[in-house]
Amino acid sequence: MLHLSSVAADSDPALSAFTTGPKLPTSKMTALLPREISSKCGTTTIVDSHSWRHQDGEETIPFQSEDIRPEMREDIHDPSYQDEEGPPPKLEYVWRNIIFMALLHVGALYGITLVPSCKVYTWLLGIFYNIVAGLGITAGAHRLWSHRTYKARLPLRLFLIMANTMAFQNDVYEWARDHRAHHKFSETHADPHNSRRGFFFSHVGWLLVRKHPAVKEKGGKLDMSDLKAEKLVMFQRRYYKLAVTLIFITLPTMVPWYFWGETLRHSLCVSTFLRYAVLLNFTWLVNSAAHLYGHQPYDRSIGARENPLVSVASLGEGFHNYHHAFPYDYSVSEYRWHINFTTFFIDCMAALGLAYDRKRVSKAAVLARVKRTGDGSHKSS
Ligand SMILES: [Zn+2]
Ligand SMILES: [Zn+2]
Repeated sequence: MLHLSSVAADSDPALSAFTTGPKLPTSKMTALLPREISSKCGTTTIVDSHSWRHQDGEETIPFQSEDIRPEMREDIHDPSYQDEEGPPPKLEYVWRNIIFMALLHVGALYGITLVPSCKVYTWLLGIFYNIVAGLGITAGAHRLWSHRTYKARLPLRLFLIMANTMAFQNDVYEWARDHRAHHKFSETHADPHNSRRGFFFSHVGWLLVRKHPAVKEKGGKLDMSDLKAEKLVMFQRRYYKLAVTLIFITLPTMVPWYFWGETLRHSLCVSTFLRYAVLLNFTWLVNSAAHLYGHQPYDRSIGARENPLVSVASLGEGFHNYHHAFPYDYSVSEYRWHINFTTFFIDCMAALGLAYDRKRVSKAAVLARVKRTGDGSHKSS
């Protein structure tokens, strides 16, 4: 039996105006209603999140109301899902990926030795390319398409889908499906890069073996209808291999060779292999380091952690304890531009009218959460 109740223990009582709730699934938990949603200046502020409370215990687990972001709720942690007992299934290696990753990293290591003899434009192109491709992951596949934390007009979506293809980290649909499963079933076998299986597995190992059956089962049941309905995302998925060949391999390799006379060896090993290996490893750190090292100021019960170094490497994606606690916040951080180039970029796009409806959690809700579930490392503690 389920009970709905409005609770005013954690945040400003003046904000407890919200009185209706969504239809909720049957469980043994009590749902606590969200406080208030306010919308102004194109930014939706979420004043409090939905919470589940076990009837027989004190544990409170965050759960977001579908009223706050009706178009998406598949990235909200589902604490009712737990691993089944028994030994883990045998690893099935994917030799094609192992060989590809091994060759890429050998090429990248060789590329490091060529860096001093590279032309300066090759350097600049590599940095520029990785920032653009990185935004295709952070502002595109992650904050826009996986989490729906803001809305983007067509020119920005076109830029992001091209930037995302440049990053070559699976098409947006597949990336978002894996990522929603990562949030919903965090640190279980249904999490594609379950950090309980260690640093190497959550960093790159998960790409070198067949997916755990639980990932296929639970991931296959996620609601992906929003992305299926988005023509641009489906177009990228259909022509992904061709697009990757054109703008991932041809662009960074041929441009330095054709336009400023770089050798093909430098172009391939530095501008493609080394640059791509750096982008991949920086992105993977969010799944590995930011799930293993750092504080948990917002929720000590989840694996994700705050890791500023990962934020530097990943254009702002290292505030990971915050992000898993509030996956609907477009800044993926309590702060805006602090070590967060992606938020700066989205805000610039908003100033140009290309991004809007940026979802943001209020300070009051953040502090309430810090007090309730944080590990005591937050500056307010
Ligand atoms: Zn995420
Ligand atoms: Zn994570």
